[in-house]
Amino acid sequence: ATPTALMVGTGRGAQLGILIKGPEVLETTRKVDTIVLDKTGTVTTGKMTLLAVHTAPTTTEAEVLRLAGALEHASEHPVARAVATAAAERVGTLPTPEDFANAPGLGVQGVVDGHAVLVGRTQLLTEWAMTLPVALERAKAAAEAAGRTAIAVAWDGEARAVLEVADAVKDTSPEAVRRLRALGLTPILLTGDNRAVAETVAREVGIDEVIAEVMPEDKVDVVKKLQDRGRSVAMVGDGVNDAAALAQADLGLAMGTGTDAAIEAGDLTLVRGDLLAAADAIRLSRRTLRTIR
Ligand code: ADP
Ligand code: MG
Repeated sequence: ATPTALMVGTGRGAQLGILIKGPEVLETTRKVDTIVLDKTGTVTTGKMTLLAVHTAPTTTEAEVLRLAGALEHASEHPVARAVATAAAERVGTLPTPEDFANAPGLGVQGVVDGHAVLVGRTQLLTEWAMTLPVALERAKAAAEAAGRTAIAVAWDGEARAVLEVADAVKDTSPEAVRRLRALGLTPILLTGDNRAVAETVAREVGIDEVIAEVMPEDKVDVVKKLQDRGRSVAMVGDGVNDAAALAQADLGLAMGTGTDAAIEAGDLTLVRGDLLAAADAIRLSRRTLRTIR
């Protein structure tokens, strides 16, 4: 009877857009008591838009967008997509960077039109011994208090602008969090983004526990620490920076709309990238196990 029950379970799973790597995955769904949710692209749409550009008196919005947009054009990050798209719309054709490097979890840096340009978290500027002028620091604080991500732009050794970007919580995320709780799971929001932004999103979807400003390589340690404290951890994510944490988790759920790295690392794929499918997957797997026994 066992193989038949598994097929029923996974067949229904396929209908719901849930792909399971193997039957052993079902067993782990029974013990998980904690679910770590990546923010960008998992709880939120990951489709960010540029909402405002604050410039220093030494420059203009067009110049900021030209230089920042040129660099971000070479990055896949949701923040980068927002900046590059807005820049192309507002200033037209963007120059090709003469040099480019990604700083995962921080931003991008490179050379555009002969200028050494940085775009990213203020931490990236700090690494290059730059600070935001008071007016831009204020713009950043206001943006973050409003739940937006503030990105700094600097070139030739000087901070020149703050960009405000934001994405929206997926419509289904609050209901998904309710259902995950109903299954006995404690949700935790995990992100590399700023704490104020993370808390705003958490409030919108009904999550009480937030772990923010985590570097990509440290996400896996968050999962390990929870496990060390005796928790059995499920993790839902979509990004390259989630892959190690998905592999470390007792149950890794990858968004099918996410990166190949996340999908390869997960035990389960939620094809439609809808968080509701995470609750469906756990409920269905547990029920399939009961049918087998
Ligand atoms: P998340 O965990 O939310 O997916 P990441 O770890 O990828 O976030 O990034 C953390 C933060 O680093 C972002 O919120 C953003 O502020 C900054 N960042 C990362 N990549 C870029 C980029 N290409 N351009 C600007 N900022 C970036
Ligand atoms: Mg993400």
